[in-house]
Parts: sequence; structure tokens; C-alpha cells
Amino acid sequence: MPGIEKLGATLTQTSILDILALLDMMDKMTAVKESPTKLLVVGAGVIGLSVAWHCRDFFDEITLIDSDPDQAASLVAGGMLAPVTEAHFGEETLIAFNLSAAKLYPSFVQQLEASSNCCVGLQTTGTMCLGKNTSDLAQLTQLAKFQEKLGLNIKPLSASKAKEMEPLLSSRLAGGYLAMEDFIVEPIELCNALNIALLNNGVASIREEIVEISLEEPNLISAITSSNTVITGTHLCLASGSQIGRINFSFSSNRPLSGGKVANPQPAPENFPLPIRPVRGQIIRLRPQRFDSNSVNGLFTNHTVRAYVDGKHVYILSRHNGEVVVGATSEEQGYHKANTVEGIYELLKCAQDIIPSIRELEIVRLESGLRPASPDNFPIVGPLYSTNICIATGHYRNGILQAPITGSLVAKYFATGQIPLEIKPFSPERFQESAL
Ligand SMILES: Cc1cc2nc3c(=O)[nH]c(=O)nc-3n(C[C@H](O)[C@H](O)[C@H](O)COP(=O)(O)OP(=O)(O)OC[C@H]3O[C@@H](n4cnc5c(N)ncnc54)[C@H](O)[C@@H]3O)c2cc1C
Repeated sequence: MPGIEKLGATLTQTSILDILALLDMMDKMTAVKESPTKLLVVGAGVIGLSVAWHCRDFFDEITLIDSDPDQAASLVAGGMLAPVTEAHFGEETLIAFNLSAAKLYPSFVQQLEASSNCCVGLQTTGTMCLGKNTSDLAQLTQLAKFQEKLGLNIKPLSASKAKEMEPLLSSRLAGGYLAMEDFIVEPIELCNALNIALLNNGVASIREEIVEISLEEPNLISAITSSNTVITGTHLCLASGSQIGRINFSFSSNRPLSGGKVANPQPAPENFPLPIRPVRGQIIRLRPQRFDSNSVNGLFTNHTVRAYVDGKHVYILSRHNGEVVVGATSEEQGYHKANTVEGIYELLKCAQDIIPSIRELEIVRLESGLRPASPDNFPIVGPLYSTNICIATGHYRNGILQAPITGSLVAKYFATGQIPLEIKPFSPERFQESAL
């Protein structure tokens, strides 16, 4: 049974209500623990890893299943924890979720680094958002007004002040804004730390592709692999990112499914489970010439630099290993993951307008990943019809930021059987109404 301190660290604020909810959760967990429990997590990207991490104390056994973890979008991500600079018009619900997600990060990182003995590269110097010309700045200013109205911490930044803070910036920029509370982590290090911490906590990993999930009984879920092996568990979290739509379900149409046996499992409705689309993001990894990995003197830039360049968006991120990441495109090209001349050319052109000396860096490699996006661009997190099957996908451009909060809320659902308030707007069932 987890200690109160451990659970407490997953809550954003300690209030009487939180404590009462926590005690309730501990109570209900005793019931869950009466018979052996086994959680299957399909997908070992940042979301699946974080779910497994947050569930580690609640289950007798956890198995992570991934067909090819090297293909995860999580390994290509910029790693910006950006509730402010990612705050867009009409996304107030998502912004509130992102702000809560950001609050969890420092304690999440602290626990994870202690458990894995790995550094995940959290940088807390803040994010600059710059405009190349006056019309780019006008676009930024319009957004900044909206962000200020929501009470977000964003400050105007003159071009000269920005250059004073980041000497490599072009001297021809129009100015911008500073978001002091938008941080960054290094996603490859983060996933590595999660994998090590999970291994240290006895979580098993299997390399298999899941093609079908079948709910046999409320506490018996089968995950069937492409080689026809059946892996069973009492609970399952489906965190397979942009590929989620490729998994078939054999699922009873009788509701409610929880409590009592499920009679005659039937194929799911046609649009089941979720309308996730892949949104391709291309990035470029660069490093200074004559790069010596043993003697990294400092970061290329001290802040995360985001910019609008003739209406196009680019960011430049510095990694502790000396690498510089330029990203990212946003393209709807199905499951086609290749890097393209157009994508890479535009990114480099924009990055060079912001930091001219980018052109002196060496190219390490080009990469791309598929962001899992839902029709309303909100994540999809929650149980399917109150069963022990929980969905966690659709994190689109904020999956790194939202990983700890998603993991902690999925764990809360499994532990209590109650859907946490924070994920009610993100229920998978919001897309299922026509099928019910
Ligand atoms: C270029 C780029 C930049 C980004 N920048 C940021 C950023 O700065 N900040 C931020 O917060 N977010 C960012 N994101 C978004 C973020 O990366 C994603 O939202 C997040 O990685 C999604 O994580 P996931 O675990 O759901 O999916 P993934 O990381 O894609 O992992 C899914 C895993 O499931 C496995 N899988 C799929 N199907 C099956 C199956 N049938 N059986 C077994 N395994 C399966 C896959 O092999 C994969 O390993 C960026 C994304 C991209 C592409």
C-alpha cells in the first residue's frame, strides 16, 4: 500500500478536499487489492510509461507491451512544458489542464530522478516567444493579450532586451514575450529514466504488437498479439499513441459492464474506439562543429526560443549533451513518417532568421514523429464504459507536459473506480454517443 506522502505528491494542492479524496482512495484500494491485480499497459511512449509509473504501487503486477518503442513520438518531441506559450484561443479547458500538468512536474522529476539515478534535463530558465517582423509580433501580441486575460504569466520583451539575454539572437527581430514558467525537459532522457525506474520497481516489458483487446469478464481482459499470444490482465491501459485505431476490440454491447459477468462479447461499433489522427512533426538535431561529447561547456541558448517567422512557427532548444533541436513541422500526411525537403528547408530557413549562427552547426540527424490528435485536439483519457479498460491518448502537441498528470489520474481511476473530475472533459465516450 503506498504511503500518504507518495500519493500526496501527485496532487496539485493540499486541501481538505484533497485529503478526504485521498483517504477515500486508500480505502477503495484495499478492496482492489483483495485479489491479485495485473495491469497491462499497451504502448511504452511517455504516456504508457507514466501510467505504469504512477500505478506501480497499486498493482501486484504490471506489464508494459510495445511493438517497437524506438518509433514512439515521445522520443522525437521537443520536451517543452509550455502551458503558457501553447495557450491558444478557444482552448480554455485544455489550458487549465496544462497548468495543472505543469504544477506536477517538479515533484515528478524529483521522484523519478531519485528512483532512476538519471537526469531528465529539466531547464527552468523560461521561454522566449519572438517575432521576426512587425506582423509576426502583432500576431504574438494578439495571443499574448488573450494569455494575459487568462492570468497567465507572460511579459513583453523588447528586441534589445531579448538579445541581451540571448546574445546569439539576430539583431533584426521585432521583439516578443517571455514566459518565465514554461520549462523544458529532455524527452529521450525522460523516457530512459522512466524505463529504468520501472525496471527497478519490477515492471515487466514485452515487445509484441497488440492487435485485439477482448473484455471477457469485468476483471479479465485479454490482449492478443500479432503472433496470436494471449496476454491477460485484470486492468488495461491503452496508450498506443497515434496507432490506437489499429487495435480491434471485442467488447460487450451490454451496459453497464462493471459488476457481474459480461454476456456474449460482441464486436465494437464501427468507429470504435477512437478517431485519432496522426500529425507529423519533423525535427532536426544539430550540434556545434568540433563537438566533443566529453567537454560540453554549456547550452547553446539559455532559454527555449520559440518564434514566428513570416507567419511560420519554429523553436530552437538546447540539450545538455550539446545538441540543438530545431522543430517542428505540423503536417497531416497520414502515417507517412519520412522527413521531407520542404519541411526541413523551412525549419532551417526560419531558425537561421532567428539565430544566424545556426548555419555553422553540424547536422546530427533528421527525425519525425506522429502526434496523436483527436477531432477536438483534446486528449482522450478515461475508462471505456466504466470498465477496467482505460484509454490514454490524443495528447497531440502536449504529451510530454501531460504525461505525469495523465499517469496520476489514470492511477486514481484504477485505484478508486471513480472518474477524476479533471479528466471528465476528456472522456473517450464523447466520441461514442452516436454508437450507444
Ligand atoms: C516533433 C514533435 C515535437 C513535439 N514536441 C512536444 C513538446 O515540446 N512538448 C510536449 O508536451 N509534447 C510534444 N510533442 C507531443 C508528444 O510527443 C506526444 O503527445 C506524446 O509523445 C504522445 O505520447 P504517447 O505515449 O501517447 O505516444 P507515442 O510516444 O507515440 O508512444 C506510443 C507507443 O505505442 C506503441 N504501439 C502503438 N501501437 C501498438 C500496438 N498495437 N501494440 C503495441 N505497441 C503499440 C508504439 O510503438 C509507441 O512506442 C511533440 C511531438 C512531435 C512529433
